[in-house]
Amino acid sequence: MEKNTRPERSRQFTRRLEKEYPGRGTALDYSNPLELLVATILSAQSTDRQINKITPALFRKYRKARDYAAADPEKLEAEIRSSGFYRNKAKNIRAAAKKIVEEFGGGVPRTMEELLTLPGVARKTANIVLNDGFGVVAGIAVDTHVKRLAGRLGLSEETNPVRIERDLMQLIPEKDWGRVNYLLISHGRAVCRARKPLCQGCVLSSLCPYLKDRIRLDL
Ligand code: SF4
Repeated sequence: MEKNTRPERSRQFTRRLEKEYPGRGTALDYSNPLELLVATILSAQSTDRQINKITPALFRKYRKARDYAAADPEKLEAEIRSSGFYRNKAKNIRAAAKKIVEEFGGGVPRTMEELLTLPGVARKTANIVLNDGFGVVAGIAVDTHVKRLAGRLGLSEETNPVRIERDLMQLIPEKDWGRVNYLLISHGRAVCRARKPLCQGCVLSSLCPYLKDRIRLDL
């Protein structure tokens, strides 16, 4: 009977995905926590590939938080324009950098509580910065892929990312929190795509309630 419980199923999902996707971490390019923070803010409503085209020149020009804090708003907007929503992102990056300089001595803070005080930083960004930038596991970053897969796999019925994260944290052992975002994003990009999930051949098909519902509806 235990095999049908959500925690057991989530363990099986994790085990199977770990075999499929042995890498780890974000696909964003960065070499320190500040670069990761900026890249993650830029990545909202964009793709990691697109952001990785923008950031090399950006990171060469702006090396410290004080550089972003002192950036000319219009120049920064132009430099990140292709990421989309560039005015808002530039405003948030400058404001977050200013706060890092004024309240955190110029270094990106290392706790969830402190990161959430930065403009433009919600739990998803904070989790990525903590996990990939500092090796600190405080939760599970929920982006569009994680949200979609959590629903399809029956791990959460919620639509709010904070509640989805809470459900996942209850189901998944803490030792796997840091990996599960990478695993679900990798599977969401490669197989369980938003429009046409490639269910045939999916390693999770025998456990997937979404697929079972689709088959039942087709009958
Ligand atoms: S079986 Fe289909 S819906 Fe279920 S996880 Fe795999 S690709 Fe996604």
